[in-house]
Amino acid sequence: MEQVNIIQQVIIIRYAEIHLKGKNRGYFERVFSVNLEKALKGLRHELRRTSGRYLVTGFADADVEEIEERISRVFGVHSYSFGYLVANDLGSIYSAVCLVAPHNGTFKVETHRADKTYPLTSMQLNAEIGARLLEERPLLRVDVHAPQAYVYLDIRENGVALVFGTFLQGAGGMPVGTSGKGVLLISGGIDSPVAGYMMAKRGMTVEYLHFHSYPYTNEQARDKVADLARILSRYAGSDTLYTVSVTHIQEEIHKKCAAELNVTLLRRFMFRIAERFARQRDGRCLITGESLGQVASQTIEGITSSNAVVTLPVLRPLIGFDKEEIIVRAKKIGTFDTSVLPYEDCCTVFLPEFPAIKPKLSFIEEEEKKLDIEGLVAEAMTSLEAVRI
Ligand code: ATP
Ligand code: MG
Repeated sequence: MEQVNIIQQVIIIRYAEIHLKGKNRGYFERVFSVNLEKALKGLRHELRRTSGRYLVTGFADADVEEIEERISRVFGVHSYSFGYLVANDLGSIYSAVCLVAPHNGTFKVETHRADKTYPLTSMQLNAEIGARLLEERPLLRVDVHAPQAYVYLDIRENGVALVFGTFLQGAGGMPVGTSGKGVLLISGGIDSPVAGYMMAKRGMTVEYLHFHSYPYTNEQARDKVADLARILSRYAGSDTLYTVSVTHIQEEIHKKCAAELNVTLLRRFMFRIAERFARQRDGRCLITGESLGQVASQTIEGITSSNAVVTLPVLRPLIGFDKEEIIVRAKKIGTFDTSVLPYEDCCTVFLPEFPAIKPKLSFIEEEEKKLDIEGLVAEAMTSLEAVRI
């Protein structure tokens, strides 16, 4: 039996949807613990799993804030608590209770017993610990219906108990890496980083692909996208931004095709290139920040036209969101302030005065015949660069 004679600080981490996964549960748990380890990398700690939860111990006081911040970004975490790991005798439990309980106001003790052989029942423990607290802290009162504070006791099987006072909400979702890989088309705007976040939340490994029009767009534009990818990577994990130049494509389109189709044609090239990139890297889908009707290229006709050139599924997690809803999320994720910095997007470089709002596929295909599609895509692929973020 494991005996702990000192009170140890502990962070209790409970996972979210993993329990739904039946036979795959072991796999999900392994990915989840690898992700937790990655999140805590560089900070002294021990991580271990005990029936249905993870415990982090052995960390330095000075790191607590940083640890909390990092855990709050790990997908798959349902909730977490800061508390104490102690031996399960009443004296040890009570000394931990004194550290988490308030000094005034109302409280309630709630006990969970995993160890059904423990000599006291949950009710008896609640009463015993509650009574001791009341005796020592005269400004405290018990309120079992709507207490201002809780003291939670969790009597584990192996001679130890967990004592904590609050449940903090985790990021939710599924562990990144359990839903395959997707390629995020990331611009410097507000939407695409949010789209990447949402797919990472559903367990997808997200790779970042950005199209630039150097020298029409500058270094700062690329740095801005790299900053966005870096913020995203704190949730989604990948550490590289891939960039591809589409300058030659924009010039060709500008030279040869109807001006009102500039954006439409460029977007079809972006999708073709992204699909090729995805297939090289075992990506199973493309991800964009499109939202229905937001701009001319995001009408159902615009979406249909870009969709038509690829066979991989294109996931658009923001399709039904208003801009304001997207902004709220961007602020929460931490990408908003970077997204709104001024920059030149490659789309704006050759922006026509009146882009086609409902482009006909036959017209688009007619105009595209003027271009060497395969040659342009192949040339774009040779410009692929990997930027560590
Ligand atoms: P965002 O805020 O993400 O830039 P947006 O509202 O500005 O979106 P568009 O510029 O029409 O909309 O782009 C729609 C989607 O196409 C983006 O969300 C992104 O996924 C992709 N995209 C646009 N420009 C680029 C680019 N330069 N590189 C990579 N992907 C891009
Ligand atoms: Mg944009």
